[in-house]
Amino acid sequence: MSRAEALYRLQMFDLDLDKAVRRAREIDAAIKDSPAVSRVRTELTAIQSVVARATSEHRLIELDAQGADEKIASEEKRLYGGTIKASKEMMDTQHEVESLKKRRAEVEGKMLEAMMAVDEARVTERRLQAALKQAEGKWAEDNVALNKEMGELRTRYAGLAEQRKGLISAIPKPDLDIYALLRAKKPNGVAVSLIKAGTCGTCGEEASSMHIQQARQGAILVTCSSCGRILHG
Ligand SMILES: [Zn+2]
Repeated sequence: MSRAEALYRLQMFDLDLDKAVRRAREIDAAIKDSPAVSRVRTELTAIQSVVARATSEHRLIELDAQGADEKIASEEKRLYGGTIKASKEMMDTQHEVESLKKRRAEVEGKMLEAMMAVDEARVTERRLQAALKQAEGKWAEDNVALNKEMGELRTRYAGLAEQRKGLISAIPKPDLDIYALLRAKKPNGVAVSLIKAGTCGTCGEEASSMHIQQARQGAILVTCSSCGRILHG
């Protein structure tokens, strides 16, 4: 095996390892965050505060109605209980009861409106609760698949890393150093380029016939005169 070929094989492992690491990062991010779940959760929190506001509004009106009922009852008791002697007081009390009943009717209308507002908000709340449950279920399902994929990636990574060790042991240290240096510098970690139709397969620069021949013989490492990658062909 030529020196360049050994590095080219190593690169195939490394590119596979890079891919596994990238995918693992994607999975990590996807498991941490579910946009669908957090969106529904935000909507639910908002409607829950609407329900709370509407409920307390309704309760206040209810208390108002209760107060009016009690006042009406006590005035009517006075009116028909025979405690009032003067007719003027009698008439005043009758007026008072009438005006209280009018107010009570208005309160009744408001109470109905408030009740409807509560009901409406509760319907939305229940709908969002169901939507949240569904989104969370879907998320959990996705996570099962993602966790499974993550487990497979780990196994694959460990296998590749083990094979890589064996490969490295057969490559001279200076070659490994050049390879590592190029990999760190070059986009996507491509340090070794295949010669394709007499040109560098990565940057397209034409390789001299001497370089092509040297690359084939494999006794020395030949680099592309344009991009500096190790040529293998
Ligand atoms: Zn090149």
